[in-house]
Amino acid sequence: MEKIKMTTPLVEMDGDEMTRILWAYIKDDLILPYVDLKTEYYDLGLKHRDETDDQVTIDSANATLKYGVAVKCATITPNADRVKEYDLKEMYKSPNGTIRAILDGTVFRAPISVKGIEPNVKSWKKPITLARHAYGDVYKNSEMKIDGPGKAELVFTDENGKEIRQTIFDFKGPGIIQGLYNTDASIESFAKCCFEYALSTKQELWFGAKDTISKKYDARFRDIFNEVFDKEYKAKFEKAGITYFYTLIDDAVARVMKSEGGFIWACKNYDGDVMSDMVSSACGSLALMTSVLVSPKGVYEYEAAHGTVQRHYYKHLKGEETSTNPVATIFAWSGAFRKRGEFDNNQGLIDFADRLEKATLSTIESGYMTKDLVHLTTMKDIHTLNTEDFIKKIAENMEK
Ligand code: NAP
Ligand code: MG
Repeated sequence: MEKIKMTTPLVEMDGDEMTRILWAYIKDDLILPYVDLKTEYYDLGLKHRDETDDQVTIDSANATLKYGVAVKCATITPNADRVKEYDLKEMYKSPNGTIRAILDGTVFRAPISVKGIEPNVKSWKKPITLARHAYGDVYKNSEMKIDGPGKAELVFTDENGKEIRQTIFDFKGPGIIQGLYNTDASIESFAKCCFEYALSTKQELWFGAKDTISKKYDARFRDIFNEVFDKEYKAKFEKAGITYFYTLIDDAVARVMKSEGGFIWACKNYDGDVMSDMVSSACGSLALMTSVLVSPKGVYEYEAAHGTVQRHYYKHLKGEETSTNPVATIFAWSGAFRKRGEFDNNQGLIDFADRLEKATLSTIESGYMTKDLVHLTTMKDIHTLNTEDFIKKIAENMEK
């Protein structure tokens, strides 16, 4: 059979430890036999980041801006132990943080549905994608413990020195206060990311906040979403046959629990932090979770939601058998191929992405899986496979 041709390269960001091992297996057994693979390769492995003073991370993000689609392997974010382990020149920042700062994106995470691994919420038939605003609010707060009576005020001083003051509270005894902020620019970029992603995946978009109580702060989020929608997306949504609505966060939560899934739930930073943990744990495992960074500049970076699976890597180095789940990393590749195919009008590549995902899911659904899934499944006749054999089994199913 002739291999599928690519016209534009994917930006390939290789990574660390066990996921780097998975990366090579996936390419060798599941991709290279079928695709005439074109990538611009960046080695984000910690050793090479150190050799380039982390320039390689910046270069890979800039290449993503140039080509539009990247696929990223999990990478180590160095701490003191890693500086010693890899004899690093410095404690480099998180590669994901560096890449996000350049691409200016929002992260979308969705569980991968597998028959036989059912969500704990019975009504959920389709995955719920959570879109989390990752800037400001309580994550960039200023807080104070108040030891005794006194007046707390909110003061804004403009460029010309003019002050606006508002009393927060007249304390009669000890207490606490907290200051939060966000910017119109960040909220607007969050809104655009959500609208773009809803269009690209053809799913409804829900957004919930507490505007009944927070009449200026949360209301600003609501209004910016509405303004951006009316101005730039209303017609596009109608054409795509999808809807957007805003509702109170309480109502959103109630609707989510009763829903069938299959939509995008946009959340403010804190809500998204808490609710993404709820959705993902209700669905099973981080290794069954897709993750994509969507930039308002219209570029996409696909990755797994989990880390480099260090514990398994050390076993692998000792020559012991591992059973590491490659599904999230496979779906990072398939997501990137599908998007590349859409950008380039390359139906072959889109079909390949579907085929790869289908082969992966049907492997698990026929009872062949890695160890982490064994305790999650309701299936009876189970075969627990090691890392390499599981990927080989998927390769077998690709042929079918
Ligand atoms: P981790 O790599 O996500 O692994 C934590 C544990 O979760 C593993 O020990 C394993 O449990 C289980 N697990 C995660 N992924 C799995 C998979 N694919 N298959 C089977 N089990 C899986 O987190 P970590 O060990 O705390 O972090 C390791 C490194 O990853 C750190 O250096 C961190 O900086 C980095 N990290 C990178 C990213 C990223 O690049 N996106 C994200 C998070 C962390 P058992 O050991 O019980 O089998
Ligand atoms: Mg959390």
